[in-house]
Amino acid sequence: MFSYWEQQSFSHYDHIIIGSGIVGLSVAIELKQLYAKETVLVLERGLLPAGASTRNAGFACMGSPTELLDDLQHMSEDEVLKIFEWRKKGLDRLRKRLGDDNIGYAANGSYELISENELDALDKLEYLNELVKPLTQMPAYKLANEKIKDFGLSTSYTKALIQNTCEGEIHTGKMMKALIDYALKLGIEIKTVA
Ligand SMILES: Cc1cc2nc3c(=O)[nH]c(=O)nc-3n(C[C@H](O)[C@H](O)[C@H](O)COP(=O)(O)OP(=O)(O)OC[C@H]3O[C@@H](n4cnc5c(N)ncnc54)[C@H](O)[C@@H]3O)c2cc1C
Repeated sequence: MFSYWEQQSFSHYDHIIIGSGIVGLSVAIELKQLYAKETVLVLERGLLPAGASTRNAGFACMGSPTELLDDLQHMSEDEVLKIFEWRKKGLDRLRKRLGDDNIGYAANGSYELISENELDALDKLEYLNELVKPLTQMPAYKLANEKIKDFGLSTSYTKALIQNTCEGEIHTGKMMKALIDYALKLGIEIKTVA
């Protein structure tokens, strides 16, 4: 049972969020920014954020060519473009909120390795570039086969290489640390639960 003091100070929050990964903390921050006077608590079962947000590959992804083509099999162009836009806006917001240095963001682009079975994707690059152009303002995808050798990729698997000029990398350890600091500064409480 909670003591009087515990009840007064620790058991009443306007918003409680489970999980302090990028999603939980971003929701907490948005809530606090919308409702400054309301209290926000984030409960985390790990001592650190213990999920995918600190255990990923660190790509700032918007959608590789084969991923978009796969999505287009069961979604409309508008829906696929919307998801691309959300990813882009999410990344822009994260960069603006925390600062590129604090999240180790580098706009290095990215590459997709194309296997024998995926070679059809090469015929669709122009179409995909046109599709995402309203959001990228420049061709997002281009063939970069000349880099296959430079990167030391196996040619038995890699039949083509597509460069994505719109993506980048993030140091997600730094990012999560910066996100936690940002949340704490706003007055959001983060507690570890057993
Ligand atoms: C191997 C791997 C590589 C990836 N690479 C990329 C990539 O390169 N680019 C990219 O954009 N995305 C990548 N992702 C996906 C991306 O990391 C996730 O989509 C994102 O981190 C999800 O964030 P989240 O906050 O929803 O979840 P998480 O970061 O998993 O956060 C959930 C948190 O909730 C906590 N939790 C769970 N249950 C409870 C509970 N009952 N009580 C209290 N706390 C709880 C967990 O401990 C955890 O800290 C990758 C994912 C993986 C697994």
